[in-house]
Amino acid sequence: MSLKNLHGVHIPHRKNTAGMEALRMPPPAVVTIPMSMHIGKPANCIVKAGDHVDVGQKIGEPGGFVSSPVYASVSGTVKKVEPLLMFMGASCQAVVIESDGAMTVSPEVKPPEITDYQSFINAVRDSGVVGLGGATFPTAVKLDVKDTSRIQEIIFNGAECEGYITSDHRTMLDRAEEIAAGARLLEKWLDVKKIIIAIEDNKPDCIAKMKEVTASDEHVEVRALPAMYPQGGEKVLIYHVTGKVMPEGKLPIDVGSIVMNVTSVAALAHYCATGMPLVEKCITVDGSAIKEPKNVIAPIGTASLEVIEFAGGFKCEPKKLVMGGPMMGVAQYDLNSPVTKGTSALLAFDEKEARPAEPSACIRCGGCVDHCPMNLMPCEIERAYEKKDGAALKALKVGLCIECGSCAFQCPANRPLVQVNKLSKTMLRDYENALKEKEAKK
Ligand code: SF4
Ligand code: SF4
Repeated sequence: MSLKNLHGVHIPHRKNTAGMEALRMPPPAVVTIPMSMHIGKPANCIVKAGDHVDVGQKIGEPGGFVSSPVYASVSGTVKKVEPLLMFMGASCQAVVIESDGAMTVSPEVKPPEITDYQSFINAVRDSGVVGLGGATFPTAVKLDVKDTSRIQEIIFNGAECEGYITSDHRTMLDRAEEIAAGARLLEKWLDVKKIIIAIEDNKPDCIAKMKEVTASDEHVEVRALPAMYPQGGEKVLIYHVTGKVMPEGKLPIDVGSIVMNVTSVAALAHYCATGMPLVEKCITVDGSAIKEPKNVIAPIGTASLEVIEFAGGFKCEPKKLVMGGPMMGVAQYDLNSPVTKGTSALLAFDEKEARPAEPSACIRCGGCVDHCPMNLMPCEIERAYEKKDGAALKALKVGLCIECGSCAFQCPANRPLVQVNKLSKTMLRDYENALKEKEAKK
């Protein structure tokens, strides 16, 4: 892979809520907290129906190394533990808690004792923090590099390049001191000498604030980057900040980098200072069907509809609800889907904006190739997929696709390129598994 030019697309920013301080909603009557809100194994539920829980009490133990604990976001009574169909189509156990409205804090909530590298990593794990920009990779796994001399720099991702979403923007303004404290924690316990806070240049207020709170920290640099989608994609960000290219199948640490979302950094610092794990999330509520766009701080597990109603509700019948941004978000089939650790936006669209554009035949313009940040050839991938040609999909490196949607966004023929890429990845996996089976039989 090479990333020689600044590929990507200019999308409408529509950051309508950037200037509005986030509002904390009152506890809902019921929350539904999934055991799988992260990449990796679901947490194992440790409560049962009838149990009383308080805010910050652990209700799910990590199910493996790549996993994350889950905590109660309200105080009240566990009504049931039942399977829940998640917005990505997979099912997991979920704890349904009826709130008592008191938001009593659990006695378990106390600042962790951190004395060395391992106790810091343990604290990161106990914080329940994952990639809060939407990637949801457990932060403890990311930081558990063992040999800290491998870390050349940590990049704080404040790009927030998707349209509408301003929850990281508000975190950088409203929780700036926590981000600065997070930087100090990483410097101290991981011996990091270089932290770069990368922010798109369409957020001058965040750039100024981050510079102000880190002015006395010689290890921190605040870097303005051109506002270009998908600037916040991990591989794209590493390249644009450091010039390093991540080889196929490798992790950021393999090139000496770690990328952390700014809200993840703030949540980690908050846990280390107070002992309160991740139990709430700042969510941008916006879109053409929303009456009053807002940023709402909601307990994890709150039904999407309740968050939207707290923000002011719909101004017309919503035809599409998207969890996440317009480019990479996932359309919901149920208005009551609970908000999770990875939810940064709830976007509701009216009929006009929700209607998918009619695709026509590819005109071989090459625009999708020109704009792909990973230098892939989406039009060729589509042809290989249609021919069910696994070998060609492998050669075209579809596995590198970050599903950013830049190709489809600018395609004049409205080809469904991202959907095809997702299906092509599955086809490639099947092809490779079949090859392995064939080899094993020889
Ligand atoms: S092929 Fe993948 S990485 Fe490239 S623009 Fe399309 S969605 Fe993004
Ligand atoms: S941008 Fe669309 S029309 Fe142009 S080559 Fe790619 S798939 Fe074909």
